[in-house]
Amino acid sequence: MWALQGVRLANGDLADIVVEGDRIVEVRRGAAAGVPEVLTCSEKLVLPAFIDGHVHLDKALIRDELSEHDGTLRGAIDAIHERKRRYTSDDVRARARSVIEESVRLGTTRLRSHVDVDTIGGLVPLEGVMAAAADSADIAEVCTIAFPQEGLLRDPGAYDLMVAALEAGADVVGGMPHWEHDEASQREHVRLCFGLAERFGRDLDMHVDETDDGGVRTLEMVADEALRRGYIGRVCAGHVCSLAAADQQYADGVIDKCLRAEITIAANAVTNLVLQGRQDRGLIRRGTTRIGELRAAGVNVLFGQDCVKDGFYPFGRGSMLEVAMISAHAAHLTTNADLDFALRAVTEAPAQTMRLSDYGLRPGARADLQLLPVPTWSEALRLQPLPEKVWFRGRLVAENSVHSTIHRLRPPSASPVRGPVWESRGPEE
Ligand SMILES: [Zn+2]
Repeated sequence: MWALQGVRLANGDLADIVVEGDRIVEVRRGAAAGVPEVLTCSEKLVLPAFIDGHVHLDKALIRDELSEHDGTLRGAIDAIHERKRRYTSDDVRARARSVIEESVRLGTTRLRSHVDVDTIGGLVPLEGVMAAAADSADIAEVCTIAFPQEGLLRDPGAYDLMVAALEAGADVVGGMPHWEHDEASQREHVRLCFGLAERFGRDLDMHVDETDDGGVRTLEMVADEALRRGYIGRVCAGHVCSLAAADQQYADGVIDKCLRAEITIAANAVTNLVLQGRQDRGLIRRGTTRIGELRAAGVNVLFGQDCVKDGFYPFGRGSMLEVAMISAHAAHLTTNADLDFALRAVTEAPAQTMRLSDYGLRPGARADLQLLPVPTWSEALRLQPLPEKVWFRGRLVAENSVHSTIHRLRPPSASPVRGPVWESRGPEE
């Protein structure tokens, strides 16, 4: 048994957190008294470890090997084909593992990764990501989504590979209906994905309407299918960009269906800010879905990293703190309530869509924690600090320390202002 003494929680409360085995057993002031092993935390912020609810580990870190393209979704998908043909399971495994390790170092201990399943790469990407997940099982929990990136009808053979991927242990059924050539094929794609989910008893997490074209409306097909089959609270829809371009009345109706089907929306603003709006001139659209309206309606909304230096996005480093900050810019999140929503989008919201019953900062929850050298969540967002410590299942799995020095010519005359660092240090230190 051990304890964190004197931590600041995201709601501002001071508390001690007692951990036994892989569980949190107490969260209250004074709970550390009598606990044999205590870490004094000096009112630093403790958060549950982040969850990255939407990432693509199989294609991470391939950017430098791709030919340049026009920056669009289609351009990226085409540019990746050549590299995907050359994937080996070890190659995918090494890149995926590197992103998992970096994510852990930056405070994330659960990841849900889409993995391409198509006739180009076959099951090689899945083999690689599952191997990386096994390699990393001591520091993080990674689950996989079988993702037919090239479509199901426009890529004959992909459906059989999806079956094989689920038989091989992929955790969730993915999809990408808007990528099919026509509306009938989109509908069939949705039907096939739900059929697979029912057959294998899995949840669904699909890429939906990642386009500026307001006429593309597969989110409604997904919501209708979920309602028809009673697949309530078991579907996540990622991106959903075209909803922002649809007319208001239509959007309101679809948001209501999402609410009734308890669909989570993975609003991956980080990637969509650079991917969408490429044809616009002047007032360039942000490319994100209707985050504010979904939130107001009560739909569960998460923020994902989505891409780490792949064909779609040249940046990304597995930092959900960075994802929350970029998403806050994209979605006009500035008030305290807004920032709380941004925190939820990288913690409780992905936990909800993954149906985790043991997540959070409460007695009984799994002790996946991070200690940040700031007093508040808003300061964490602003300063983007490295977590000092990260725990997974109650075990310390990562530590970071930063040493910075300003070399003054003379000591400052005025008393130091509590500035951008949490603990200001005197010149003698
Ligand atoms: Zn994605």
